[in-house]
Amino acid sequence: MPDFQLYNSLTREIEPFAPADGHTVRFYACGPTVYNPAHLGNFRTFLFEDLLRRVLRMRGWSVEQVMNLTDVDDKIIKRATEQHKTIRQVTDPVIVTFHADREYLRIQRAEHYPRATDFIPQMIDLVSRLEAKGVAYKAEDGSVYFAIDKFPGYGKLSQLDTREIRAGARVAQDDYAKENAQDFALWKAAKPEDEASEAVWDSPWGRGRPGWHLECSAMAMSILGETIDLHAGGIDLVFPHHDDEIAQSEAATGKPFARFWCHGEFLLTDGAKMAKRVGNVSNVSDLRANGVSAAALRHFMFSTHYRKQLNLSGEALEGSIEAVRRVGDFAERLERERGGTSALAEAAETLLVESTTAFGDDLNAPRAMGAMFEFITAANRELDKRGTDAEALARAREAFRQVNAVFDVIPERVVEDAALSRWVESQLAARTAARQRRDFAEADAVRKALEEKGIAIEDSPSGTRWKKVR
Ligand code: AMP
Ligand code: ZN
Repeated sequence: MPDFQLYNSLTREIEPFAPADGHTVRFYACGPTVYNPAHLGNFRTFLFEDLLRRVLRMRGWSVEQVMNLTDVDDKIIKRATEQHKTIRQVTDPVIVTFHADREYLRIQRAEHYPRATDFIPQMIDLVSRLEAKGVAYKAEDGSVYFAIDKFPGYGKLSQLDTREIRAGARVAQDDYAKENAQDFALWKAAKPEDEASEAVWDSPWGRGRPGWHLECSAMAMSILGETIDLHAGGIDLVFPHHDDEIAQSEAATGKPFARFWCHGEFLLTDGAKMAKRVGNVSNVSDLRANGVSAAALRHFMFSTHYRKQLNLSGEALEGSIEAVRRVGDFAERLERERGGTSALAEAAETLLVESTTAFGDDLNAPRAMGAMFEFITAANRELDKRGTDAEALARAREAFRQVNAVFDVIPERVVEDAALSRWVESQLAARTAARQRRDFAEADAVRKALEEKGIAIEDSPSGTRWKKVR
């Protein structure tokens, strides 16, 4: 097996990666804040995590992945207040949309999707542990804060200059800039709008609600354990979110929180970060309206390395639509062919070696994608020779299957056609059997069922042929 290496944001180096127990990768990915449908920028990060997950599995490890759903935070409460709703009334439908969009984009289901509001006792417990260790304190405003000067190494992920640390100064909001590296809120005393939107719980410090950073530490540790293998998110989460997660978790346990930290770069539109605030977002429903398939979007996202910025443009998407059309045509051809050549088997071997090497080199998807297209060109050339080597063909199918199991870029139409043709073949077999036992009523019924699905059949001495007529 080739080495598997990943860039670790904590050390700022590419390092060999393997799960601590040699078997299961304990993987936490910061999920969406569910007050609005996720936009394609968010999905660039979730697709990078899907790629990572699939590559880890291709490498032979099993993956236990958590993606949390942040269903209580400043932005959600603001939205609920504006709409005179409870936070659950805001977040429930957004979670339904999130999963529909995720499935459309073929992002594999994680093992766990914890909602923050289902883990309040674990969060309260974590704050109590921090208080007992003397790194958390209740302030005059009734909220509980983390004392950053009590945690040596605070800011180690973002490599915050210690001179920037302003001990004693406090920041209450969930998101803030580096210039505001101050004691941050773990537990926020209830405000009237929190009560009105049902974003409050009883705690040893009075009624209140958790801070955003605390949510992830509590959910990650209670589901995956105190030291996890991999923690991922978008690059904007490095500070303060991930530095605060590290501070809370490590101050409580005295153990390293995550062995590897991986961050994906931004998706841009016209050179600016795609963000709600900027007003330049598009989402999955826009894609669907414009006929951009999941396959094309995945091709677009994976054609740039996850640590490089990527600009969304109509032109680039057109290119990806064209590229996956080629992949789809090839997939169909591979199914149709009956034999290959020894050079086809060699091309399959090259594809496997080059793609595993590329994926193992800090997830170099663009290079693996290049290897796949080179394989398609070489394989088409070999298939034109009408070889008879069934073993070579089987190897080509298997190599292509393995690489596409990571990319998942065969267009919907082709996937649907393959399912349709399996169904038609089974119907035709049933019809032949009916005719053999002279049950012509049944045979006619099968023909009718096929016609209703737009399939025309034609009997000939060499067997029955079928085609899709609409
Ligand atoms: P949020 O719902 O804001 O908590 O974000 C969910 C995930 O999307 C986080 O991992 C963010 O870092 C990521 N994200 C937000 N905007 C972008 C963007 N323009 N490009 C890539 N990732 C993003
Ligand atoms: Zn998080």
